[in-house]
Amino acid sequence: MMSNKFFKSMVIFNVKNISSRSYTNLPDFTKNTFNVERGFYNYFQEPHLRFFQNLLGNERVVTDLFDLERHNVDWFLQLRGSSDVVLKPKTTEEVSKILEFCNGNKLAVCPQGGNTGASGGSVPVFDEIIISMEMMNEIINIDEDSGTVTCQSGVILESLDKAVAEKGFVVPLDLGAKGSCHIGGNVATNAGGMRLIRYGNLHGNILGLEVVKANGEVLNLLKPMKKDNTGFHLKNLFIGSEGTLGIITKVILQCPPRPRSQHVAFLGLQKYDKVLKTFKKARSDLGEILSAVEVMDHATIEFAHEYVQTVSPIGDYPFYLLIETSGSSDEHDEHKVHAFVESALNQHFVLNGTVASDHTKVRGLWELREKVPVGFKKCGWVGLFDVSLPIKHYYTMVDETRSFLKNRVDSVFGFGHLGDGNLHLNAVSKKYDETLKTSLEKFVAVKTTEFGGSVSAEHGVGFLKRRYLPMANSPGAFHLMTDVKKLLDPNRILNPYKIFP
Ligand SMILES: Cc1cc2nc3c(=O)[nH]c(=O)nc-3n(C[C@H](O)[C@H](O)[C@H](O)COP(=O)(O)OP(=O)(O)OC[C@H]3O[C@@H](n4cnc5c(N)ncnc54)[C@H](O)[C@@H]3O)c2cc1C
Repeated sequence: MMSNKFFKSMVIFNVKNISSRSYTNLPDFTKNTFNVERGFYNYFQEPHLRFFQNLLGNERVVTDLFDLERHNVDWFLQLRGSSDVVLKPKTTEEVSKILEFCNGNKLAVCPQGGNTGASGGSVPVFDEIIISMEMMNEIINIDEDSGTVTCQSGVILESLDKAVAEKGFVVPLDLGAKGSCHIGGNVATNAGGMRLIRYGNLHGNILGLEVVKANGEVLNLLKPMKKDNTGFHLKNLFIGSEGTLGIITKVILQCPPRPRSQHVAFLGLQKYDKVLKTFKKARSDLGEILSAVEVMDHATIEFAHEYVQTVSPIGDYPFYLLIETSGSSDEHDEHKVHAFVESALNQHFVLNGTVASDHTKVRGLWELREKVPVGFKKCGWVGLFDVSLPIKHYYTMVDETRSFLKNRVDSVFGFGHLGDGNLHLNAVSKKYDETLKTSLEKFVAVKTTEFGGSVSAEHGVGFLKRRYLPMANSPGAFHLMTDVKKLLDPNRILNPYKIFP
């Protein structure tokens, strides 16, 4: 039996009663904010428009200013391009003809999935033609023998998961943006998400891709085999290439069997060293059924309470852990989770907690974590960092950032995928300060490197982190990347101003 303390739940925070500010203003144009120079590309003109209208029909060539806006501005309301046109192909052949034409006419393009990217890769910087993949959303085949799904790249992640769920499978990738992001965007950013600790990254789960190169050539890498050592693993080149090497049009994904039982423990802890001990214990006690380990500090929960009105169900603690298990035997898993939490309480690693087993309660606990980024749209300015760190330095990074910023911002907080050493570090301020932003970015980049981490754990480089690419890679690796880019896209029409400084 669990202690009463363990079942203590639904304690409402006593937080400052500050009403939410809404961020209704659009950001300034990226070219102005970041003082970028336009490349030597041709401007989009009437004959180009006619070509695209002939190819796609008028409805799939968007030029209406109001409709263009959602494609020109990023999800986090930090960047704004000024594209005059969005193209919405439905087939690989159409993507191929669009790129062949753009390459021949030196027109820059910006491939766009669900436009939820966090590094600014998905929106144009100037007037790049936006190629939206949202109408390439066909699920082509689910092979029940091998557990693989083949689909076009514009399928929304959540829809893909629902489709494979009907056949008893699960998409081995889950993130807060699942209702909007595309599987193609996930591949292009090498998205990580909540279940990476269980299923590994996309390099292992993506079996095949179809990609259209800058010159329009269709590259067939659609081998559905888990094992294939015939030459270079070319598909891996496009995983994480952020639309700079080609447009991904089809994906073959390996899907594991859908877990039949799921439990979530939401725990309150006193100190980061207890967080680490509990994490280590979870790995050892829960073993093969452990499927997610998310951490949030107190300031994260305060921020979420203020901007997205979520409430900790266990009261007020310096740290929170959300630990999920997924398995095939409910009784077995439930026993393991409860034994783990009881033991963590008895060892004083954990101060309080609650376990949810039914679907609605599990979703409720997950929302506490998933809704945090939604607050970023409402809070004024936020410096968002997505770093990976050796786990012992994970929270030192937040402490050091707080000391660095002192009282120059309203709040500094950290949350993220602890299981993968992936920290989302955030500094929130009511007003934007360019000097502060620049010095903070430098501080985070230098500190992360000092700690032996990476300045981009899962969000990619995009536009916002491009200047760190040479710093984050050896000179040899950086030069090879530029050589590959030159080889695949000699006219540099694919997503210019992104990844490369
Ligand atoms: C609430 C929220 C939670 C998030 N949580 C996570 C998380 O846990 N883990 C994580 O990794 N990310 C997370 N993100 C970031 C984002 O959702 C991911 O980067 C996602 O993979 C982007 O997919 P998308 O379809 O929206 O792509 P976009 O944002 O449209 O594009 C991202 C990049 O990929 C390129 N691209 C898109 N589609 C294609 C294509 N078919 N071919 C070639 N290039 C393409 C774009 O040019 C751009 O450079 C989160 C974002 C939000 C808003």
